[in-house]
Amino acid sequence: MPFAADIGGTSIRVSMVDTRYDHYTLTEPIRFLTDPARGFNSAMDELAAGLKDLAIQNDIPLSSENIGVASAGPISMYDGTYDFSPNLPGWQGHSVSRALEEILGVAVYTAHDGAMGVLAESKYGQHPDTANLIYVTVSTGIGAGIIANGEIVAGRQSGAGEVGHMIVMPGRGSCNNGCDGCLEGVSSGTAIARRARALMENTQDGMLSNTPGPVTAADVVAAARAGDSLAISVIEDALEGLANGLSGLLAIFDPDVIVLGGGVIDGLGHWWDELLERTQHKALPRYKHVLPVSKTILGGDAPLIGAAVFASQQKEVYQA
Ligand SMILES: [Zn+2]
Repeated sequence: MPFAADIGGTSIRVSMVDTRYDHYTLTEPIRFLTDPARGFNSAMDELAAGLKDLAIQNDIPLSSENIGVASAGPISMYDGTYDFSPNLPGWQGHSVSRALEEILGVAVYTAHDGAMGVLAESKYGQHPDTANLIYVTVSTGIGAGIIANGEIVAGRQSGAGEVGHMIVMPGRGSCNNGCDGCLEGVSSGTAIARRARALMENTQDGMLSNTPGPVTAADVVAAARAGDSLAISVIEDALEGLANGLSGLLAIFDPDVIVLGGGVIDGLGHWWDELLERTQHKALPRYKHVLPVSKTILGGDAPLIGAAVFASQQKEVYQA
């Protein structure tokens, strides 16, 4: 039974995932804060300790055949080395696989959380064994895994799938890497909170002005649900950005389906239908009647499940 970890911009989760059968089973994840500012090595020490704890609890040894790690990108699919990751600042040049291998003494397989997510979707999602599948996670950041013609699209530097940095609404916000109007800069949880805080500088009105501490994306969603006009305008911008991005992906890849997951999607509530309407309105005429966009049924677990699938696939490669 493989060990799986998921490194996000906000939190890191560690779990064991049984992928031997038609249905996966997953142990309740151990969760701790990423806190990127503490540095890469400190986070890897805590992650390795979590893996060791799980191994002891379950009486299953860590081995070179059973550890998969999903991470927010950009990150190399070959050795898990970070490029300039907007949500893990200062971690560039560090390799997750190498760091964990040094601590644990066994091989570790690392890849982009979007790639892991699409692997999980292709095995356990609502569209198994689909040849053209895109999984998009909308969370602290935005990334994707893309299967085209039955193959994961990796790219020259294994950096494909960074759909969060498609420019969708110039002038409407930027990600931590500074691209103007990119999808992550408009529609991620980080962007939603940042945009609300910027608009609040010009007004004392509205529900969000009573929020204790810095406003979060969850605060904005809650205020929008309660009818707050500032919060609604921020959510509508996020939907517009997502609809622009999704209609572009549909046009480029002609996928069987785009599956969306991540905390922002989970929190959309009735705006999910509005997102579909906006996307359909912008998409090519071939999507007039059926829009192949759906929500994941794997919840937030897709990257963890995919990491376990990835580890078991590497094991097969390793043993071949
Ligand atoms: Zn960007």
